[in-house]
Amino acid sequence: MISVQVQPSGEAGDQFGLQTAPAPGSIPCPGLFYPTAAPDGALLRLRFPGGLLNARQCRSLASFSERLGAAAVDVTNRANVQIRGLVATDLPRRLVASSAQLAADQLAAPLMGVDHLRNIMASPTAGIDPTQLLDTRPLVQALDAYISTEPRLVGLSPKFSVGWDGGEQVSMAQQPNDLLFRGVEINEQIYLQLDLSEMALGCYLIPPSACIEAVAAIAELYLGCVDPALVRKPRLRQVLQAQRPLLQQLRPYQAARIDLPAILPTYRHLGIHPQRQSGRFYIGVALPLGRLTLEQLRQLANLSETYGSGIRLTPWRNLLLPDIAEADLPTVQQQLADLGLSDDPIWGGLVACSGLTGCLSAATDTQADAAALAAALAQLGQPEPLTIHFSGCPKSCAHRTSSDLALVGDPEQSTPRYSLYAGLGETFGRLIAADLSPAELPQKLTNLLVAYRQSRAADSDSEQSFRDFVSQQPVVQLQAWSSGGIC
Ligand code: SF4
Repeated sequence: MISVQVQPSGEAGDQFGLQTAPAPGSIPCPGLFYPTAAPDGALLRLRFPGGLLNARQCRSLASFSERLGAAAVDVTNRANVQIRGLVATDLPRRLVASSAQLAADQLAAPLMGVDHLRNIMASPTAGIDPTQLLDTRPLVQALDAYISTEPRLVGLSPKFSVGWDGGEQVSMAQQPNDLLFRGVEINEQIYLQLDLSEMALGCYLIPPSACIEAVAAIAELYLGCVDPALVRKPRLRQVLQAQRPLLQQLRPYQAARIDLPAILPTYRHLGIHPQRQSGRFYIGVALPLGRLTLEQLRQLANLSETYGSGIRLTPWRNLLLPDIAEADLPTVQQQLADLGLSDDPIWGGLVACSGLTGCLSAATDTQADAAALAAALAQLGQPEPLTIHFSGCPKSCAHRTSSDLALVGDPEQSTPRYSLYAGLGETFGRLIAADLSPAELPQKLTNLLVAYRQSRAADSDSEQSFRDFVSQQPVVQLQAWSSGGIC
């Protein structure tokens, strides 16, 4: 049997009476059976391939979290769920004892040892998106079934991850994955493009029916090259690059690379949207900092059972309620409002890592500072759909892609200080200001937004996005505006 251990606890110590990991770095990502110790308690992560949960899974998740003493769950940037702040003294024993029930409740894989490898991402609008080329949900399910029942895969890197992009308008193609399959149509045939050309390993056009075999072949390549007992396993990319001749197995599918459409901003998933199924709609719901209370989770299960079909978590830490009939939209919206949930674009685009309360590396209280900023931006009225990222240090755990504005905690300072970045640029964008106290942020960001609005008001034909605006202005101009200079 796979033993359940707590990850390296670092400076947090083994304060929960949990076992200590056998070797630092052996399991760098938390899992359902691999709790991680953090300043606010142990944390677990449950995988939901494709971000898909049915009503029963929602209820099971709520009951499981409640039994562990949690009051809420957090959606992660891989559309999974994290339960944190756990102080149970016998957590490992309880998790092992519950494993069969967790699998029966569809909260875990039948094999504990591979549960944490179900890192499978898809668009939250897979199967319902009017622009999609194919429904990737069968691929998500097939890959989940393969991983969940193949004990040999325990030798893979814990970061092994696969993304399926079916050509949906709400694309997840910018999210980081070891392997990304993107739908493409050629001569009325649908293929999945696996583009490894960045690693000089070629590009492959694979029929949907052969994709799981392709993933399995790549997994076998990895397992054939990496000692399963290795404590720090290399990433898939490193192994593939070192073993180029072995990619012969994909040769039948090798083809010229096809340029795929540009990826649209992710905020378009909030609010009401028509599905490809006539008369059906999905509602995109913003979750404040990705958090759902257990009561909200249970009520969402009821709502989806009565009016829709399950919930879909998004990599932007929000969720969708799909398959709502047009006549039911007002009722569902009212019930969401009664739960304190809405499509508020401020919350929809605001991301913060756990910060000081949950991470020993954090320089700032990202959660509290993000909430203070949300309150300030709400005062402006008619909020723009911005993406704003609070990171307690430069590691950027909560958000892996670029954002409109980024606030990054400075670990070199003795008091909480942020650097402000804007628009496109390296990692976080272009640096606008450093050494900012949390109290300075709301005014600085409000000033930038006001400058953007004034610029648009001066040119009524302009449809320039905020990101394009801040990306195209000189840094000195942005610095002046953020400090209250006139536009
Ligand atoms: S970004 Fe830094 S502070 Fe935030 S959770 Fe990651 S390591 Fe901790």
